[in-house]
Amino acid sequence: MPRIVFVIATALLLVSATSQAETSPAERLAEAVRFKTISHQDRSRVDGNEFRRFHDFLRTTYPRVFTQLEVESINEFSLLIRWPGTDAELPPVLFTAHMDVVPIEPGTEDDWKQPPFAGIIADERIYGRGTLDDKEGVLGLLEAAEGLLAEGFSPRRSLVFAFGHDEEVSGRNGAVKLAQRMREYGWHFAWMVDEGGMVISDNPILPGKSVAIINVAEKGYLTLTLVASGDGGHSSTPPKISTIGRLSAALVRIENNPFPTRLVGPVEAMLEAMAPYAEQPQRFVFNNLWLTGGMVANTMAEDRLTNSFVRTTTALTMIDAGVKENVIPQRAEAKVNFRLLPGDTPESVVSRIEELVGDPEIEVSYDQWNQIPGVSDHTGWGFAAISDAVLSVYPEAVVVPSLLTAATDTRHYIDLTDNQYRFHGILVETSQAKSAHGTNEYIDIQSYVNSIAIARKMLELAAQPAPANR
Ligand SMILES: [Zn+2]
Repeated sequence: MPRIVFVIATALLLVSATSQAETSPAERLAEAVRFKTISHQDRSRVDGNEFRRFHDFLRTTYPRVFTQLEVESINEFSLLIRWPGTDAELPPVLFTAHMDVVPIEPGTEDDWKQPPFAGIIADERIYGRGTLDDKEGVLGLLEAAEGLLAEGFSPRRSLVFAFGHDEEVSGRNGAVKLAQRMREYGWHFAWMVDEGGMVISDNPILPGKSVAIINVAEKGYLTLTLVASGDGGHSSTPPKISTIGRLSAALVRIENNPFPTRLVGPVEAMLEAMAPYAEQPQRFVFNNLWLTGGMVANTMAEDRLTNSFVRTTTALTMIDAGVKENVIPQRAEAKVNFRLLPGDTPESVVSRIEELVGDPEIEVSYDQWNQIPGVSDHTGWGFAAISDAVLSVYPEAVVVPSLLTAATDTRHYIDLTDNQYRFHGILVETSQAKSAHGTNEYIDIQSYVNSIAIARKMLELAAQPAPANR
């Protein structure tokens, strides 16, 4: 072979063989950010090429995972990866994350310290969309698996990874299809862990302590549409009550009558887990929720953020009526979005709202609602394994179960396991967590490196038979 060809061939070989060896985990996450795997509400705007290129990147970056494990593309852009265990009797464990990210709100691009899709590493941080939500989750698991494969690790229990590609717009084409395939295979999992929990470094209840929040439940999601119809006509001869007036009055009644506060199981469990580390009198309060629960719920309801933990929330989100300033509209429409506490059902919300509206001229309707995951066991083996994995890296952390007030892909996997947890081992500040769908999303390099160590420990613990006492 001519010398020049030989040199080029050698160089190419080196490039393809060195993706793991010569870059750091942080650099690989930074590179992942550069693929614009953006989910848009308008699905025609999704760029399939970016997802294809992202898959290629994963394949070359994690060669052991993609050659030694069973890898399947689902509905083109989602990934299902199975690591077979040596003991087929043990039910597998499922690890999930998503590859898509939310768009940048137009007009906010310049507010970023680093461009959102540039994948810049600066100030000991990795900047960009997806560094917290959720490319860190996908890559963290792949880093952990690749590392274990390199060491010749062989799980006794099968481990499965399911990475969706449209979590940010419902999961309909990703997680739903992944779940369908797993159902066809007849898989039933001992437990699963998805995104939706993390280690918070500045929890206000326990100052100075890092709190690892493993969410064992999430709130339900329901949107109702209210439509008032009536006589329209010229605004010079208006009716006594217009459709707009009728609808507005109903909306005011709904907003003025919030759902009652109450402490649900996962929130009680969180407070009880914090109790031993809290100062008095808080410790007494958290230890005696049978007595203090009502007071705690009312206190939490006073703050906008904690309010969402203690009640089914009501949010008036859209209103639409009228086409011209001198025409009375015959129709006025509004949308109200509810986030349901465990125990509340779409049916119970609809009947309460119909009662509050109490107006036969207003029609209340809804689209089909999603299934709401149940409350998972925080005393079970899956929770203990995640907790042990966290403590192996953050031995001082306080691990608590809790309730996720947002929604994840988890709901699509309800029938595949009874034990659904939400946690990725990243350490963040409360203010930083907001950047996940906002401006200036970043992760500290050390936080990311530690999250890989936690993911690795989770895989190792999941791969074993359950401890006898669980
Ligand atoms: Zn996410």
